[in-house]
Amino acid sequence: MTALRRLVTADEPTFSFEFFPPKTPAGERTLLRTVRRIEALRPSFVSVTYGAGGSSRDRTIEVTKRIATETTLRPVAHLTAVGHSVAQLRHIIGQYADAGIRDVLVLRGDPPGSPRGPWTPHPDGFTYAHELVTLVRELGDFSVGVAAFPEGHPRSADPAADLRHFVEKCRAGADYAITQMFFRVEDYLRLRERVEAAGCDTPIIPEIMPATDVRQIRRFAELSEAAFPEDLAHRLEAVRDNPAAAHRIGVEHATDMALRLLAEGAPGLHYITLNRSDAATDIHRNVMSTRSADVLSAHR
Ligand code: FAD
Repeated sequence: MTALRRLVTADEPTFSFEFFPPKTPAGERTLLRTVRRIEALRPSFVSVTYGAGGSSRDRTIEVTKRIATETTLRPVAHLTAVGHSVAQLRHIIGQYADAGIRDVLVLRGDPPGSPRGPWTPHPDGFTYAHELVTLVRELGDFSVGVAAFPEGHPRSADPAADLRHFVEKCRAGADYAITQMFFRVEDYLRLRERVEAAGCDTPIIPEIMPATDVRQIRRFAELSEAAFPEDLAHRLEAVRDNPAAAHRIGVEHATDMALRLLAEGAPGLHYITLNRSDAATDIHRNVMSTRSADVLSAHR
């Protein structure tokens, strides 16, 4: 069993944070500051997303290596099949292994330019994530994570096909899955129930997106096709010129969701940071303090 699988299946939930590779030196400084703050919270792991192409991909590899060598954090490297031949994918996985990175989040990726565009595989590459899961597994002792979609993957023909392909990907060798952002706990619970009913026990970690900026969150929700609750949108719209109030509302909503998910037995929480620590760490602190208070009152 890989170390990450052990963590994700342990009694205590995991807490993890997601970064993206910064584009500018200023962005890099912001990220490094955030990484240091998050390091102090001793998360189970952190992950670094993989860009659509070129220099952003090199930066993913660079940032992930730096986290592995310069911090005490366990970095999970995202990797997609977009635009890569199998030989190139083997080379990147080899680079991770050389840097001591043993944890990969395997994704098919979206067509460059538009996530809704037609998917064209590289002529010598892969079409679906399960093929890349098999390759990573063959190449060494890596832990492998995959993506899960509480509202179904937007390109799936129907819910049954969506479930079948998810289970196939897990059976190819996934240790755990992390979800796409979502805003209704029921969507997560429904997915988990269907996966379990299909005989698949891969732990599914919910992704927590702090909704503190209504314009930004609407854009993300549109891109990922995640339903954004209208009542939350209205509350955020009402304070659109008051960032502190929007922050409070977004953190409160995400904290409630996170606590409900843990109460329902979610194996962990994966926070999107957008390379800033404020909202994600506020939610995390709220979650931890509520859980400690619950433990204390249970012992009284
Ligand atoms: P797949 O599992 O291959 O599924 C893609 C589609 O193909 C689905 O509709 C599925 O049902 C269908 N399918 C699968 N297998 C078959 C089959 N055998 N036959 C027919 N149809 C099949 N993108 C990035 O570019 N970089 C990132 O770093 C990144 N990180 C992410 C992190 C998380 C936690 C999540 C949830 C998503 C992330 N994404 C990232 C987005 C992801 O790449 C896209 O959502 C992509 O469209 C789906 O990837 P997948 O790995 O789920 O693909």
